[in-house]
Amino acid sequence: MTARVLVVDDLEPNVKLLEAKLRAEYFDVIGAFSGKEAVERAKAEQPDIILLDVMMPGMDGFEACRIIKSTPETAHIPIVMVTALDQQADRVAGLKAGADDFLTKPVEDVALFARVRSLTRLKMMTDELRMRYATGKSMGVVGAIDINEDPSTEKARIFLIDDQPDQADRVRALLGELHEVSLEIDPEVALGRAKTGDFDLVVINMSIEKMDPLRLCSTIRSFEETRLTPLLAIVRQGDTRKLVRALDIGVNDYLARPVDRNELTARVTTQIRRKRYIDQLRSSFEASLEMAVTDQLTGLYNRRYLASHLSGMFDRAFWTGRPLSLMILDIDHFKPVNDTYGHDSGDKVIQEVSERIRNSVRGIDLACRYGGEEFLVAMPDTDVGFAAVIAERLRQEIAGHKVTLNGGRDEIAVTVSIGIASTENGPKDDTGQKLIKRADEALYVAKTGGRNRVINAAA
Ligand code: GH3
Ligand code: MG
Ligand code: MG
Repeated sequence: MTARVLVVDDLEPNVKLLEAKLRAEYFDVIGAFSGKEAVERAKAEQPDIILLDVMMPGMDGFEACRIIKSTPETAHIPIVMVTALDQQADRVAGLKAGADDFLTKPVEDVALFARVRSLTRLKMMTDELRMRYATGKSMGVVGAIDINEDPSTEKARIFLIDDQPDQADRVRALLGELHEVSLEIDPEVALGRAKTGDFDLVVINMSIEKMDPLRLCSTIRSFEETRLTPLLAIVRQGDTRKLVRALDIGVNDYLARPVDRNELTARVTTQIRRKRYIDQLRSSFEASLEMAVTDQLTGLYNRRYLASHLSGMFDRAFWTGRPLSLMILDIDHFKPVNDTYGHDSGDKVIQEVSERIRNSVRGIDLACRYGGEEFLVAMPDTDVGFAAVIAERLRQEIAGHKVTLNGGRDEIAVTVSIGIASTENGPKDDTGQKLIKRADEALYVAKTGGRNRVINAAA
């Protein structure tokens, strides 16, 4: 896929120059000639990365950067500031405004492409999460995320890997002012610790000697546990070759030695803020997924989930030759409960029955709310005889204990009728749907036979 780059500079020749370089590498390029125009085009065109000149009349690059990074529609777009001079103070000001990196004019090709490639790749990853999050939000199941939440309020857990004591101590002391730092001097040991440590950021000295630092970075990247953990590399000044390789491997950001205190703080803050944003996206997506498959009233799986999951259970039963059994339960004479005690009390009865179902099934069983006062439990590795035992135990559990309502003022006797069916005695061309139908027919027999009983389809 081609990344789209927004190049911003008040001087047209500068825009043209970067445009020519980027086009030669097959990037799509759009231009803007002022800070104000940059803000507008970023919003309207949603580029994958912005190369932003610092010195511009009117709104300068810092101000444009601040606005782009605090606008929800554009906050996720990486920004590289392009400065005329390599001024330490400018870098820190840019990082504080939210910039992701810097390039110094005249822009060196290798550094330019490495930055654009690595930042756009990172963006694609967060785009995927943002898309899922947007879906959850439009479904009304996830709340808003505050992109400007101050990450410094909570200490981050930083893992420092460095086998050179002097530098390690200095960096540890600097980071330790704001965060919780763990140092590891042995790269082999560091691999294991990175995996289990649940760190917010890993800082790696790219001059370690006991292991190839590039291998160390790529191994940490490859672990499932640390796939998304930001990596910050500390490189020797002018070691462009190693830096480019590191960025290609997936290192998120870098610093040159000697490490400047303010720049270190600013870069660490940027990485931690991004990590927390990604964490929030992921957890809200997981929450939305959970809400999409569970029934709100009972917390059991919903019918939609059953529809997609049952066929998989059925196929597995077929391939392993192990029986799959189903039971469908329906609360007896439930309508009068609503009529007598009200709909809210009816809901409580449904919740109480659900709780008893949940307590009587195993982890591998799938319990779902199949209809208003109807439930379905699918039990893998369960033959029809054992299913009948489970169903009978559940029936007794429900019939044997009244449901109390209104703080104990009312007690309602509740019973259920249960139909069971199994693949064990199904036809040759059996399917999940047919299995449900047989259980449903058995349930009907249980109802017409007097309710509060278990009927097996095979019988
Ligand atoms: P049967 O023994 O034949 O199953 O009788 P029944 O009264 O339980 O069956 P019927 O299907 O006639 O009525 C089911 C009732 O369940 C009707 C409906 O109003 C009620 N119901 C369905 N969903 C809910 C719900 O979420 N909450 C409440 N309170 N009632 C519900
Ligand atoms: Mg009923
Ligand atoms: Mg019913």
